[in-house]
Amino acid sequence: MGENAAACLRIDPARLKADIEAVNEIGRIEGLAGINRVSFSDEDMAGRRWLIGRLKTAGLAAQMDGVGNVFGRWNVGAGPAVLAGSHLDTVPMGGPFDGTLGVCAALEAVRAMKEAGLAPRRPVEIVCTADEEGRFGGMLGSQAICGEVGADWIASAVDDDGLPLAEALRAQGLDPMADVARDRREIAVFLELHIEQGPVLERTKDEVGVVDVVSGVFNWTVTLCGEANHSGTTPMSMRRDAFRGLAEFGAGLSEIVDRLGGEQTRLTVGKVALSPNFPHSIAGQAVFSLIGRDTDEDVMRALADACREKIARAAARHGLKVDIAQQSWLPPTALDPRVVEEIARLARAGGLKARIMASGAGHDAQTFARHVPAGLIFVPSLGGISHAPEEWTAWPDIERGATLFARAIAASALA
Ligand SMILES: [Zn+2]
Repeated sequence: MGENAAACLRIDPARLKADIEAVNEIGRIEGLAGINRVSFSDEDMAGRRWLIGRLKTAGLAAQMDGVGNVFGRWNVGAGPAVLAGSHLDTVPMGGPFDGTLGVCAALEAVRAMKEAGLAPRRPVEIVCTADEEGRFGGMLGSQAICGEVGADWIASAVDDDGLPLAEALRAQGLDPMADVARDRREIAVFLELHIEQGPVLERTKDEVGVVDVVSGVFNWTVTLCGEANHSGTTPMSMRRDAFRGLAEFGAGLSEIVDRLGGEQTRLTVGKVALSPNFPHSIAGQAVFSLIGRDTDEDVMRALADACREKIARAAARHGLKVDIAQQSWLPPTALDPRVVEEIARLARAGGLKARIMASGAGHDAQTFARHVPAGLIFVPSLGGISHAPEEWTAWPDIERGATLFARAIAASALA
């Protein structure tokens, strides 16, 4: 009976749409495109306070912890809770659904369950994590909930402008010293709904994605050191040109991917700084980011080795010194196979065209998956675009994904 009730649960798509539109009114800043609720900004905090109000209206016990995570708990049943949600913080000039969808849809799921008269056997808790977008270099909120964040990390984390995390927290009345870790025995499962942020579902014409693995990622800062000099007087053969070293490595990325990579491999140089960065000077230094991803850690290791080798070769050819600083190495994370199968089963029962797929982007579900069973549902992203004002998902796709999400939450809570 419980199983059937979960599989038939319906949400109110108009109410979900109204919530998404309401929270996105917060974060519209004059002169900036898109949605702007950057972590621990006034807009981010206003979004979190808006959510607390909505959670209370839905009859949930709402609170914010010391790092800004918001919880709304439906205290029913007994035992470990079903946690469901995502994040409300955005990148600068972000889109309307990244994170926001999962938070609002979790709230809608609980309202729908209450209205359907369902009697969960365990508590259901909505969670809106803090700084998922990594302004301070991690996924602070979910990592803190899972007990992965130490006091020394909090003390040393800074954003791109050098602002310490502790200061950003204190400025918003939050407490960097607070221990917000939750006992993992209190959590039965974590479920998240998110936009795909890629082009796969649109291309394959699948209606939802059920994620079975989240790619691992390594994050390097590479410095090539040569010699800055006059661009007119220094013969080409006598230069130690850091830009040409960087360019030679960049041109070799395709070869590395063709030789060692697969469908899920990504290698990206996304940030480059030359100095002196002046048209009439040879670049004496090039500092660049290298982000590598794959769903197989052996492939990640092979990619990393090949990148080191190619950087060294390019540096040798141009007389450059190399420094590679590895900022982080996160292994791929498999989501719980039983949760994946249960979501896929509910999708089939609902007549949805579902695709089991990998996630190339990191999500809160991946943090939770290291500690508790976790599941992640994707809806299609128009043109595969995200982290931009043009980010969009059609409302019928939102309704399908949110319905499946609600049914997965209900099935876990009734089981
Ligand atoms: Zn997100």
